[in-house]
Amino acid sequence: MKIINKTLDVKTRKDEEFVDITNMVNEVLKETKIKNGSLYLFVPHTTAAVTINENTDPNVKKDMLFSLRQTFPIEKEFLHFEGNSHAHIKSSVIGNDQIVLIEKNELVLGQWQALYFCEFDGPRHRQLNLQFVGE
Ligand code: ZN
Repeated sequence: MKIINKTLDVKTRKDEEFVDITNMVNEVLKETKIKNGSLYLFVPHTTAAVTINENTDPNVKKDMLFSLRQTFPIEKEFLHFEGNSHAHIKSSVIGNDQIVLIEKNELVLGQWQALYFCEFDGPRHRQLNLQFVGE
């Protein structure tokens, strides 16, 4: 069994956005030559996240960001000196990690699923840690 650690660079372009990283991750998976196993994704940031969701209608991403803004607005009562508590909260709610199975050197995702890097306080240069485990 092999364990291969990789880091993806993700450049975000907006203050808030979902970046489809499925193809980038698949390219790294091909290089690892791991046929069966699993992939752990971890976001080492406190105002970003990683999730899996709809890959077809781009309005789903927009609706999710809209709902997050509605649910976690910027409150003037927030105490955090950076003024980005809304982004910290969204990061924790969506989450910093995902696990995806690997079969035949491909990610096992549903037909309508994509992997998204979620930016909540951009634009920034971000990283995503990947750990491939398998053979
Ligand atoms: Zn902060």
